[in-house]
Amino acid sequence: MHSRLSAGERYDEWQRIRMGQARVVVGARSAVFAPVENLGAIIVDEEHESTYISEKTPKYDAREVAVRRCERAGAVCILGSATPQIKTYHNALRGYYTLLELRERVSGRPMPRVEIVDMRRELVMGNKTIFSGALLAALRKCFSRGEQAMLFINRRGYNTFVSCRSCGKTVKCPQCDVSMTYHFQQRRLKCHYCGLEVAPPQICPACSSPLIRYFGTGTERVTEEIARQFPDVAVVRMDADTTAGKNGHEKILNQFRSGKAQLMVGTQMIAKGHDFPRVTVVGVIAGDMMLSMPDYRSAERTFALLTQMAGRAGRGELPGEVYFQTYDPNHYAVVAAAAQDYRLFYNEEIQRRRRALYPPYTVHARLLFTAAQEELAAQAAQQADTLVRDWISAHPNERKTLLHMRALAAPIGYIRGQYRWQLFVKLSAKAPDAVLAYLETLSHLETPDVLTDLEINPNSML
Ligand SMILES: [Zn+2]
Ligand SMILES: [Zn+2]
Repeated sequence: MHSRLSAGERYDEWQRIRMGQARVVVGARSAVFAPVENLGAIIVDEEHESTYISEKTPKYDAREVAVRRCERAGAVCILGSATPQIKTYHNALRGYYTLLELRERVSGRPMPRVEIVDMRRELVMGNKTIFSGALLAALRKCFSRGEQAMLFINRRGYNTFVSCRSCGKTVKCPQCDVSMTYHFQQRRLKCHYCGLEVAPPQICPACSSPLIRYFGTGTERVTEEIARQFPDVAVVRMDADTTAGKNGHEKILNQFRSGKAQLMVGTQMIAKGHDFPRVTVVGVIAGDMMLSMPDYRSAERTFALLTQMAGRAGRGELPGEVYFQTYDPNHYAVVAAAAQDYRLFYNEEIQRRRRALYPPYTVHARLLFTAAQEELAAQAAQQADTLVRDWISAHPNERKTLLHMRALAAPIGYIRGQYRWQLFVKLSAKAPDAVLAYLETLSHLETPDVLTDLEINPNSML
């Protein structure tokens, strides 16, 4: 079951499952709803992937659905990952799940050697480029031995933001509250939220100063700078821009697999599952870029991504070397990923969550209000705030469950010209269903010209 099936094909598959003609269903997220009559097991591979949460209505977490479905059917649910979600591992340690560990790498291969490169020191030593001396030296040796390398950077485009040196403002999308990214080949500024493209401004849109500068690094810039350093090396770039066409994905992978290209530069896309036995060097250009995201899961995501990238090196007979370039070399997510030590990461992270009252110790709920006029969105959020407070005072037993609540503009205040306000609610982990059910009824209240949406533990808090 996958999204490229036509409605007719999907129906035929659905019937085959329902009639019991197919006994195994393989599929992406929505396959968790497959009409299997006599369910024995659901296996959720790479359970840490945030794509298991559907961003579109009906919003659901396929992992939660899998666990509940198995519970009801008396079936076994297996959640598999080298970097489990904090929530999942926590459930395993408290005995809600059974923990089964694979302690050895496939065919007993050694772990790659990981080096954390402190980019602040590179700067002190006069290296202003995006590559550290250690990474360049490793690449040089790798290419001269005829082996392959991968470089990871989690933003596409050339420069990730454009800002004014006079007033310090960054150029933002006129329809969305986010910085625009410079794409060099097309000489355009693009918004990665709504897709809007504009010509780069010659003067600052805020103060008319001509001192516009380009900052930050994306895949396009890494590819270009590497070509300057290694003019004889064939490079492929893999990101949402280069894989857009039909089979775009496959073409790039084939070029690399066949050895026609020696280096692959890419975003998250290159971190997952690919098995290239000739890759001996992996470089993460900005290992801490995600740590600064305003989200309590930024350390968890950084750890998972760095660990996966490290896992790309040395998958064949040849030993692997990995370089994490970072300005935050002592951060526990970076240190634990370098040591390939999940428990080390978990122990730090779970303490932090307990102290700060983040999930799994609490439940986050967010009612998001979207409207073309900001006052409408704001009013709807404030009104919901009042309703919840009234409801809580009418239900004194639930008072202890509500830990924190606030109506405020979302971190990204508008997207595609629509203003966004939210009612952020932090509930105790033992939140009775009654509170959640009440929030659910609020999400169905019809407010003219306002779109309301409820998410429990949303993927993104932006
Ligand atoms: Zn300015
Ligand atoms: Zn936009």
